Amino acid sequence: MEAKIQSLDQELNKFNLETNLVKLKSLELERISYETPKCSAEADKVVEEVILAGQDLVCELCKSKGIEKKCKGDWDLKLHISKSHKRK
Ligand SMILES: [Zn+2]
Repeated sequence: MEAKIQSLDQELNKFNLETNLVKLKSLELERISYETPKCSAEADKVVEEVILAGQDLVCELCKSKGIEKKCKGDWDLKLHISKSHKRK
């Protein structure tokens, strides 16, 4: 992959703006397609939350009915509440 990027860089260097704009653009786009995309700070935060949410959470709605329902993290709790405690 590195070699491919390098050869694309070399090709890019051969072109200047007057030569061939379309070819230049296509090489630029190809070059970008080989780069590893970086996660946004927002995405990193969400992933971290999901990982940190590994601990059991107790559903308060079930608890009030005397049932102990444990959920794996925030997401599971939300899923459980939306499934089991639908508003009628
Ligand atoms: Zn519940």
